[in-house]
Amino acid sequence: MPITTIAFDGDDTLWHHENFMEEAQDDFHNLMNSIGSYPDARKHLEDKHIADLTLWGYGVRSLVLSMIEVSINMTGGMITGDKMKEIMEIGKKLYMHPITLLEHVAETIIHLHNRYQLVLITKGDLIAQEMKISKSGLSKYFDGIEIVTEKNVETYQKILGRYKINPAEMIMVGNSIRSDILPALKIGAQAIHIPYHTSWQFEVAEVAETDKNKFVVLPSMKSVPELLERLEKSGEKKLSDICQESCDLRF
Ligand SMILES: [Mg+2]
Repeated sequence: MPITTIAFDGDDTLWHHENFMEEAQDDFHNLMNSIGSYPDARKHLEDKHIADLTLWGYGVRSLVLSMIEVSINMTGGMITGDKMKEIMEIGKKLYMHPITLLEHVAETIIHLHNRYQLVLITKGDLIAQEMKISKSGLSKYFDGIEIVTEKNVETYQKILGRYKINPAEMIMVGNSIRSDILPALKIGAQAIHIPYHTSWQFEVAEVAETDKNKFVVLPSMKSVPELLERLEKSGEKKLSDICQESCDLRF
């Protein structure tokens, strides 16, 4: 079945994100250690953020809420209003950072948008994601933009149902094995994994042996159009078949 739709993840696939989140966590760690000796501050923050994802959701706001709670817990309620204000500033800085597209993203999206239906599927808090999409300058190239609270099988099925896309016609491109690759494979779509140089521990997931040959790993967005052209010319083959035959695309 010919591919009609390419879906892209946003954070760390189209634009840099995790490096800013890590910087904010470092800022929090330093802030806590300007108050006292809290060598585990960063670790506590990471754990709390993940533990409360189902309550606060993903993204900047949930990280700030976790910073507030961890700072109260770690200081036994003694954190001052001034320090609390500094935590809010760390969060505001995260919202204000410039959007930098990853290498080869702009030309690839522009190249593909006349050839395929492009859908952006991104998770995180709504305001932060809307700001990023707007600042990216890419929204006009997408036929659909979906900001979701979770990226799992149900989410992808709902989106594909709404767009009337057969999963076999779609390729998902993203940096997260857990959120982009595994659920896409599970619904019967194909997937291209483009790892980002750093991963949030929550997004790291084991890939079962049986799934390892079902998706393609590329070092950047640069090779995506070439791979898609080869797929089109190959007839009924899948991306993973092409890559297994001649994996010079894994450069
Ligand atoms: Mg991502």
